[in-house]
Amino acid sequence: MDRSKLYRRFRTLLIANRGEIACRVIRTARAMGLRTVAVYSEADRDAMHVALADEAVLLGPARARDSYLNVERLIEAARKTGAEAVHPGYGFLSENAEFARACFDAGLVFVGPTAGMMTAMGSKSGSKELMEKAGVPLVPGYHGEAQDEATLSKAAERIGFPILVKASAGGGGRGMRIVRSAAELEPAIISAKREAKAAFGDDRMLIEKYVDNPRHIEVQVIGDSHGNLLSLFERECTLQRRHQKVIEEAPSPTLNAAQRETVCAAARKAAGAVNYVGAGTIEFVSDGKDVFFIEMNTRLQVEHPVTELITGVDLVEWQLRVAFGEALPLKQDEIRLNGHAVEARVYAENPTKNFMPSVGKISTWRLPAETGGLRIDAGYREGDTVSPYYDAMLAKMIAWAPTRDVAIERLNRGLEETDVRGIVTNIPFLSALMTHPKVRTNAIDTGFIERELAVLTSAAPAPGELELCAAVAAIASEEQRAGRAQANSPWQTFGWQPVGRRQRSFAFRVGHGPEQKITLNYGSGCSTLLIGERELAFTIAPREGGFDLTLDGVKSSVAAVIDGHELYLRTRNGRFDLHWVDPFGGESEEHVGEDKIAAPLPGTVVAVLAEEGARLDKGAPILTLEVMKMEQTLRAPYAGVLKSIKCKVGDIVQEGVELAVVEASGE
Ligand code: ADP
Repeated sequence: MDRSKLYRRFRTLLIANRGEIACRVIRTARAMGLRTVAVYSEADRDAMHVALADEAVLLGPARARDSYLNVERLIEAARKTGAEAVHPGYGFLSENAEFARACFDAGLVFVGPTAGMMTAMGSKSGSKELMEKAGVPLVPGYHGEAQDEATLSKAAERIGFPILVKASAGGGGRGMRIVRSAAELEPAIISAKREAKAAFGDDRMLIEKYVDNPRHIEVQVIGDSHGNLLSLFERECTLQRRHQKVIEEAPSPTLNAAQRETVCAAARKAAGAVNYVGAGTIEFVSDGKDVFFIEMNTRLQVEHPVTELITGVDLVEWQLRVAFGEALPLKQDEIRLNGHAVEARVYAENPTKNFMPSVGKISTWRLPAETGGLRIDAGYREGDTVSPYYDAMLAKMIAWAPTRDVAIERLNRGLEETDVRGIVTNIPFLSALMTHPKVRTNAIDTGFIERELAVLTSAAPAPGELELCAAVAAIASEEQRAGRAQANSPWQTFGWQPVGRRQRSFAFRVGHGPEQKITLNYGSGCSTLLIGERELAFTIAPREGGFDLTLDGVKSSVAAVIDGHELYLRTRNGRFDLHWVDPFGGESEEHVGEDKIAAPLPGTVVAVLAEEGARLDKGAPILTLEVMKMEQTLRAPYAGVLKSIKCKVGDIVQEGVELAVVEASGE
């Protein structure tokens, strides 16, 4: 086919994807002067990629097959907006040969390889046959057409256990089983076939020798329509969970220069076997010494930024230039490797609950600045909603440095300085990975995360002195910021009070743990905090996203988010979720067993909600106080009878004054 029909100059690009990759592609396309068209589902009306593009077209309902996987709707969206080209991103239709063909038939440039190249490389079996012919090293295995049980089990015996049974059409680790003995083979094949049929509509299997202590090493390649093909060094993606990459880096710390040249040459040979055009990845599994081809991905990959950071190449720009029909701008020996880059995939998921996806509104989204070697490719903003319909990756954080150690350190720092609230993220898990000594020394294999899971998901530390003080300071800052401080509040004139010393008590709790108490002393002189016997002088100064807390002469910055009585704090010791025990909420353990209901703070009685003599359930409202312009309802701390009310509406009451008496019913 005449390649000028496939690849030619265009001015309007439709991005057939969502989330961070759609945003990533839009950014470069705009920088190249292109007009960009986003597509979206009903669940993504307010998504970031829609806001970033020049135009956006609604595809349909939330479910991917009704929207992002709907070829007809996508082609129609391109026609409606005058788009001349389509970038598929990764996932969704990016490796779908029919979609590439449909684009071509509709007169659109597909930013990627031809449908024919995709088909040739799309099947793991087919591509292996090609690689065998091209002399690319393969893992010992079977990738023939015959699928009967006898053939498969004979092949398994010949290869020798342990082996890997893999769906030929596979992706994302699905339809894949490790088999360690002949007895396990049949059930493994049956279940892998079932999974493959459901996921890919194709249950053909291949068998491979299971490489011991496997590492995943892959090479970035890119070809143009003039017959040029380049490799852009390798990435190591050995840190995986369930065959899904978690951390990726470039270059691989496992390979020496000679091995690097060998694997890159093998990758060029592999891609050259189909005269590949566009960006692609040749994936290898390695035992740490040799590399064996496993598959080719005929698209841009999630982890492409690490390659960009060590080569200085914008791969999306090159993809677009190749799609314009241009020749690649550099020669192989002009591609230089500079420094080291590491990427972490930030997901909305809960590592302590078996990585269950987390959905909801992102109430806080504070990321560090993209300076000092840090890059963040995000698909979400504060206020966005993470829906249950799509992959839960929120962003990628990538760090570059001259050396691997520093790149890891920078990435870890970036992760540590990220505060996301409203949904649960895997950020603490990623930090635990980045600080794990075996990750630092590259003593890993693809099973590392699974083995170390307990360590990597261990519970957050308990709050200490610093965190309790920070909690009080956070409440202080928040009250001041919200203008709730009154003339006689400690925050108004922080630490300075004309008359005497005053006190305010706080209690905090983590989960269902015990209450931890802290007392604030303020008034004339400096403010102090009392924890048990220890009294600590402190000052606070607000800053973006939190405050500086000087405690006992040491200043440290604290990030804080307050949502009602839920406090999120990030100190030098980590992240802490504290519950501020509501002194009015009937939840304070202090009240249990006591008959006395007292004003925990000075305030005004604005409502009396129960009559003397009334029977009250635990938590029943008794009266409402207005404190710092906020209404707080005092509730029965236990079931009983309201013996007396000692105040009336309009009374101004002082801290500690008894307002009502409830007699426990003794049940
Ligand atoms: P998928 O397309 O589903 O991602 P791959 O064939 O790319 O499947 O394999 C996924 C991961 O499984 C690889 O990154 C590698 O870690 C591991 N793997 C694949 N083949 C082997 C093998 N023969 N031996 C050991 N590990 C392997």
